Amino acid sequence: MKRILITGGAGFIGSHLCERLLDQGHEVLCVDNFYTGARRNVAHLLENPNFELMRHDVTFPLFVEVDEIYNLACPASPIHYQYDPVQTTKTSVHGAINMLGLAKRRRAKIFQASTSEVYGDPTVHPQPEEYWGNVNPIGFRSCYDEGKRCAETLFFDYRRQHNLRIKVARIFNTYGPRMHPNDGRVVSNFVVQALKGEPITLYGEGMQTRSFCYVDDLVEGFIRFMATGDEVTGPINLGNPGEFTIRALAEKVVELTGSKSQIEYRPLPQDDPQQRQPDIAKAKAVLDWEPTIQLEAGLKKTVAYFDALLKSGAA
Ligand code: NAD
Ligand code: UDP
Ligand code: UDP
Repeated sequence: MKRILITGGAGFIGSHLCERLLDQGHEVLCVDNFYTGARRNVAHLLENPNFELMRHDVTFPLFVEVDEIYNLACPASPIHYQYDPVQTTKTSVHGAINMLGLAKRRRAKIFQASTSEVYGDPTVHPQPEEYWGNVNPIGFRSCYDEGKRCAETLFFDYRRQHNLRIKVARIFNTYGPRMHPNDGRVVSNFVVQALKGEPITLYGEGMQTRSFCYVDDLVEGFIRFMATGDEVTGPINLGNPGEFTIRALAEKVVELTGSKSQIEYRPLPQDDPQQRQPDIAKAKAVLDWEPTIQLEAGLKKTVAYFDALLKSGAA
């Protein structure tokens, strides 16, 4: 049994990770400032004696005694990370420094939730880990993209300078229950709009693509990555290579919900990547991991979650 810190543990992915590690018999310390996360995401874990929830902002130092750290704290949807862009960069950069400092003092293994956004609007398709990316350093997405890139730099410098045991995962679009209903990400937006019978907001022509990974598959990838030997640092892409146009996603959501919602066109946001698909050869080879849940099956579970949430009046 290990004592494991999860920053951003009350968020969408973090809450699933907390659950999974508790199921494995570990002690979990969930640290979150509830910026985009919510107590309700972990309310069902509060009775578990191995679970502890702490309100804390990772841009400030944190002194706790743990064996492993999963650093997930950071708003992840464009609406939320662009709301206070300076705080977003601080969370990625100062948060990484503090968690790396903690890992250094404790000699703890540390995992970083990096992102496919480090590839920006990619000119190489699909994106392998060797690709350095095409990122605008001064645009609206930069606080997130560059913050996460700088965090990766810090992880590798702490490894080179202090011999830390690091695991850097580049996560591609992930979806599932407990996504924030109003965070503007495409899967939650479309599902909530379809369930409410509101127009489905398609940005641009809807011909841009994304590859969607169901959250349970992703969490399995995290755990396998953390269990690798110290020589395995990443970066490793984690995502589902099944690539869909956003228009096809909209049509699929309408079909699965039986909704009468119509598609409504909106302008494409600035710097919106045209294509995104992970090359997961490395994850397959090193972690023996690949996603098992296909889009339709994952969407059905997500629809069931949002349906219950809307009926409960919580969203
Ligand atoms: P989320 O917004 O649901 O979770 C992020 C959590 O971090 C929230 O609970 C939030 O309250 C917390 N947080 C934010 N700033 C904080 C701070 N300064 N101190 C403490 N806690 C803070 O998003 P998510 O989708 O669960 O994403 C989790 C991580 O995975 C993020 O680091 C994100 O960048 C990364 N990621 C997610 C995706 C995706 O598709 N969901 C893709 C790539 C990377
Ligand atoms: N830190 C922390 N918890 C710890 C140890 C360090 O939050 O248990 C913070 C510390 O406040 C510092 C940062 O992590 O700002 C980086 O620590 P490191 O030891 O690498 O650098 P230094 O303290 O020498 O600046
Ligand atoms: N998108 C859309 N309608 C929405 C929300 C998003 O058409 O209501 C598009 C968006 O322009 C982008 C894609 O869906 O091309 C994925 O957007 P999301 O914000 O989920 O993730 P990211 O752009 O960070 O991959």
